[in-house]
Amino acid sequence: MAGSKTFDKLGLDADIMSAIADLGFEMPTEVQAVVIPRLLKSSRDFVGLAQTGTGKTAAFGLPVIQQIDTTSKDTQALILCPTRELCLQITRDFKTFCKHKKNIRVLAVYGGSSIETQISALNKGVHIIVATPGRINDLLRRKRARLGNVQKVVLDEADEMLNMGFQKDLEIILKQVPDEAQTLLFSATMPRQVAAIAGNYMHDAEEVTIGTRNAGAENVTHVCYTVHAKDRYKALKRIADFYPNMYGIIFCRTRRETQDVADKLMKDGYNADALHGDLTQAQRDRVMGKLRMKNLHMLVATDVAARGLDVTDLTHIINYNLPDELDSYTHRSGRTGRAGKKGMSVVIVHMREKSKILRIQKIIGKKFEFRKVPSGRQVCAAQLIGLIGRVKDVEVDHEHIDQYLPEIQEMLKGMSREELIKHFVSLEFNRFLEYYRDAPDLNVNEEDMYQSEKGGRRSRRGDDFDMAPRGATSGFTKLFINLGLKDDLSPKKLMEFVNDVTPGKTVEIGLIKVLNTYSFFEVKTGESEKVIDSLGRIEYEDRMVRVEPVDDSRGMQDCRERSRPTGRRGGSGSFGGRPRSSDRSRPRNSGRTPTRSKSGGRPGSMSRKPRKKGRGQGSGRR
Ligand code: AMP
Repeated sequence: MAGSKTFDKLGLDADIMSAIADLGFEMPTEVQAVVIPRLLKSSRDFVGLAQTGTGKTAAFGLPVIQQIDTTSKDTQALILCPTRELCLQITRDFKTFCKHKKNIRVLAVYGGSSIETQISALNKGVHIIVATPGRINDLLRRKRARLGNVQKVVLDEADEMLNMGFQKDLEIILKQVPDEAQTLLFSATMPRQVAAIAGNYMHDAEEVTIGTRNAGAENVTHVCYTVHAKDRYKALKRIADFYPNMYGIIFCRTRRETQDVADKLMKDGYNADALHGDLTQAQRDRVMGKLRMKNLHMLVATDVAARGLDVTDLTHIINYNLPDELDSYTHRSGRTGRAGKKGMSVVIVHMREKSKILRIQKIIGKKFEFRKVPSGRQVCAAQLIGLIGRVKDVEVDHEHIDQYLPEIQEMLKGMSREELIKHFVSLEFNRFLEYYRDAPDLNVNEEDMYQSEKGGRRSRRGDDFDMAPRGATSGFTKLFINLGLKDDLSPKKLMEFVNDVTPGKTVEIGLIKVLNTYSFFEVKTGESEKVIDSLGRIEYEDRMVRVEPVDDSRGMQDCRERSRPTGRRGGSGSFGGRPRSSDRSRPRNSGRTPTRSKSGGRPGSMSRKPRKKGRGQGSGRR
């Protein structure tokens, strides 16, 4: 992935070259070879289609730093990025790049930390502001940051900033930057919104696709497992058990799902933890630190939270759920297979997601390997081989062990080598074998697929059913709710949720239809007002839950279009409860650390009670 030039041909001055040497960078990456000379020699705007891990930070950072005029106190460069982790990482990198250039002041400006401290730093004069859009916008409104003399603006991970809803902030910020400033936009993908920002706020921008595949993409194998949606977690465990040396990130779609999966894994004895936006900064730092030190083997994360993570030797990326924006798959999978190592990006999909896989194949320009979820026997074999490998490789501390040998030999007297091996293996392995003895086949067979596509199941009141009624059942009112499959909703969870949240006696629920982003359900007509009112006070993933009666004479499509946020803002905080585990039938012990795992799925339901962050100890891998 290194560019063809060496650093000394790029026009960087001696101080910067010393910093590069200190960092041990020998050759510029492709992005650096393309971007550095452009920033040093041209003032033309620039759009770079480049992904994470390509060396972007140094590509824009080194020339930005080189061109700072330290005789002035003005802010001369503004770097915008989506998350505080990335903001801090960029700031750290910039400070390293400035190591031999004295008097350059770089400030990280992000939400969630004291604005007063940031204001007092700004008052002293800051040459480079690295900011998340929300916080810098806030500072601009308070007239505490001034961008009137900015000469370089970098929009890093523009697609993510827009995904996170920063469009308005970006527009406000960019309007305050002088027209003649050079603007650089980096994005892994170029959706319409990003193109619009480039079109509206950049002049005659040169667009370059650099390293479409990230540094390690060539080394990444893409593997797809197809299971029933209800078996997703079981499949995850099988895969984790099948690769005993896994060191990876498990990507989930929502914060709730992330915490839920991490909780289950921890409970099942895996060395896992969660990283998502509900954690405090200190909690996040702790989790990321554990991962970097390899004290954590599996990090369960949302896309956004994993942004700032810079870990180079992950063996696996697991897409527990595919990202909403399929383009983000490249961000995810690009986190493995770095630094010349091999990596695997795994997706666990259910039958109806196959078309998404085809679309991802187009995006990454590579084919998936469609594999069968390993059988119990295969998992056992992999674990056993892993165990024997570890026995073989373990460092023996002769000094301490040798003193006990005579006693041990006496005890084992008369046992053959073969017997001895069997005993040791059994000790470690019996429960594992037990757990997987009757493990079911998790793979989807053709017949299942056919059934599902034809809507083969019969409708049942209060449970999954396939066809929504056109009108409500007599005595019931049909309601719309803005939660659906994407939010991990199922008919069962919907019923639990409605009842958890609505005070008084059990709400009688009729037919339910859960669709991708929204759902319909019936409640007894007398109870509909109470249900609408109770649910309407709940927040889910930073948005208000909306429930409205459906006027079926206008049809469902109408109903959806008609539904707008009611603006009702209750005080009940987030509905952060987790879904009840659907994996009731799974064996009680995990293979990983069978002795510690007692649970086959924890009780719980969707509720508005604030949930614990599940900061419990992972019980260790083995
Ligand atoms: P970035 O895409 O800027 O987040 O960089 C990804 C990783 O590549 C970071 O760990 C950088 O320190 C590293 N890196 C950046 N440029 C180079 C280079 N020229 N040679 C070696 N490593 C680099």
